[in-house]
Amino acid sequence: MQYIDCQKYAQEILDEVKAIPNKKTLVIITVGDDMASQSYVKGKIKDCEYCGVPVIHTKFDPAVSKEWDVVDYIRQCNKSTSIGGIIVQLPLPEGWNEEVLTMTVDRDKDVDGFRASSKFKPCTPEGIMYVLHKELGDLTGKDALVIGRGKLVGKPIAQMLLDADCTVTVAHSKTENLRWHIENAEIVISAVGKLNTVNLNDCDWADVVIDVGVNRDVLGKLCGDCYNFYKALKPALRVTPVPKGIGLMTRAMLMKHMGEVSK
Ligand code: NAP
Repeated sequence: MQYIDCQKYAQEILDEVKAIPNKKTLVIITVGDDMASQSYVKGKIKDCEYCGVPVIHTKFDPAVSKEWDVVDYIRQCNKSTSIGGIIVQLPLPEGWNEEVLTMTVDRDKDVDGFRASSKFKPCTPEGIMYVLHKELGDLTGKDALVIGRGKLVGKPIAQMLLDADCTVTVAHSKTENLRWHIENAEIVISAVGKLNTVNLNDCDWADVVIDVGVNRDVLGKLCGDCYNFYKALKPALRVTPVPKGIGLMTRAMLMKHMGEVSK
């Protein structure tokens, strides 16, 4: 098996955005100090700096601020003509209503694509489609298996694959004989968030496996949902790595959306 060079694909997108003049500002809102969020935000700020997208990181302390303070702030950002995109970094602290905040973001500035009515597609599934088209070209008629039916990845990617004329199977925690589905799919997308969900040696027909999961192994090392103890097997199989895989594509799509609001 071989790893897909998602760094190269993400770079292509970042360079296209970099070439667009007079970019509008991205506002990143965080509430509290979730460790994983801090590292994701750091990555997004780094991309903004590379692409020349002005960025404002606004931090709210949940001990001092309430939900309506953030709602108020988002409404002000919605009105500003220099601000092109607003993202509310998830997760929010316990008891905070994710939907109230994400639904306050103007649909034209919802560069994460979280709202159903957003002008933009959600970044992670859009990044996955980019990789699939680059690796496979036309997807018409392909048998695709999506493992996971979460609202951020599983459901939207299943819909996008249907829109690309794939034949789509969606597996979840109640699916019986997941291995059989893995053995028979031409495209496998794992968006579960559990170690060892997909044994890559079971992929009998797959050309491409997209590993969306972000997990830590027993040693604390970052890894995906897929594993392969015998890398020499399945030489033609192409798999996205974790880290430096779909996470980079997600970030690149956010920048693509910032490029689009600036045109
Ligand atoms: P989620 O909403 O919790 O969905 C997880 C899905 O996995 C659920 O549909 C669940 O089924 C299914 N599932 C659980 N155990 C399973 C099993 N043993 N076999 C088959 N399906 C099983 O999670 P999410 O937000 O979609 O995220 C999924 C993973 O992707 C996480 O690791 C997350 O960190 C990662 N992620 C990565 C990126 C990125 O940019 N790289 C972006 C977003 C998410 P039920 O519906 O039956 O419970």
